[in-house]
Amino acid sequence: MGDVTRIAALATLLIAAQVRTADPIKRGLKESDFPRTIKVADNVYTYEDFHAGDEQFTTTDMFVVTDQGVLVADGQGDPAASKGLVDAIARITSKPIKYVVICSDHGDHTGGNASFPSGVSYIIHPTSKAILDRQAAGQNGRAGRGGRDPSWTLPADAQLVSDKKTLTLGREPIEILFLGRAHTGGDLSVYLPRQKILFMSEIFLNRVFPAMRSAYPADWPGALAKAETMNANIYIPGHGFTEKGEVSKEELRAYHKALDAVIAEATRLHKAGVPVDEAIKQANWGEYASWTLAKSQGPIAIRKVYEQLDGKIQ
Ligand SMILES: [Zn+2]
Repeated sequence: MGDVTRIAALATLLIAAQVRTADPIKRGLKESDFPRTIKVADNVYTYEDFHAGDEQFTTTDMFVVTDQGVLVADGQGDPAASKGLVDAIARITSKPIKYVVICSDHGDHTGGNASFPSGVSYIIHPTSKAILDRQAAGQNGRAGRGGRDPSWTLPADAQLVSDKKTLTLGREPIEILFLGRAHTGGDLSVYLPRQKILFMSEIFLNRVFPAMRSAYPADWPGALAKAETMNANIYIPGHGFTEKGEVSKEELRAYHKALDAVIAEATRLHKAGVPVDEAIKQANWGEYASWTLAKSQGPIAIRKVYEQLDGKIQ
């Protein structure tokens, strides 16, 4: 191999080796690259826009285009951001949005739902429906980050999925799955059996520190294990970047390891009898200390695992 060929080969290799991070700058991207639409398969796309807050990372949605309309999995955190998603879909297809699957009920994925056309059919887990209904009733009402539009409430005819539902849109079979309680308790995934693509929403946070404010630490690893057993070709996260097939499998595995490690560290401190506030100071997250949101989510994870171990989570 001549020098020029060798240099060219090396350059190709470097370009191919994406930095494994949720941080857009470390990844070699610019703010102006977002929001962006990524083609994952013939008729399957993800849409990535920045989450609100100091640390930049993406909130990632999926949409499936068929000749009978579009299914969207998750929205963005405020009406302007979700309008960006709706507009991005319109640039790909003139077909209408037929379904919106609420995979995560959190405000950063539902706060912009007012921007979806009226008349779309919502699909949601009963646990998430109860949470959204309670918020709408003003009890426990947490505004979505970035300004949830209070005019949107979940339509009464939303379809409930507590385990599994298969629908066919155009010729596309689409499975809505509950793999177990994870990040919210009502976590839904969307599986496309033809292309073997699994959109996991907040069950899978790609290189983002396990976020546990409303999580079920005893159940979450099991949901990840189920997803891994499905042996999909591509796993898509609800936060962090859309990856290519093999990398997405490695990153799902890396996330599972991170979650196990975080739970193990909190459990170690609990077993040693370290009081919760002291445990927050002592926690050693190892390599995960550099993951996006580690500083803000580390203490929350300690508190949540302590609650679990103290029998305070049903
Ligand atoms: Zn989120």
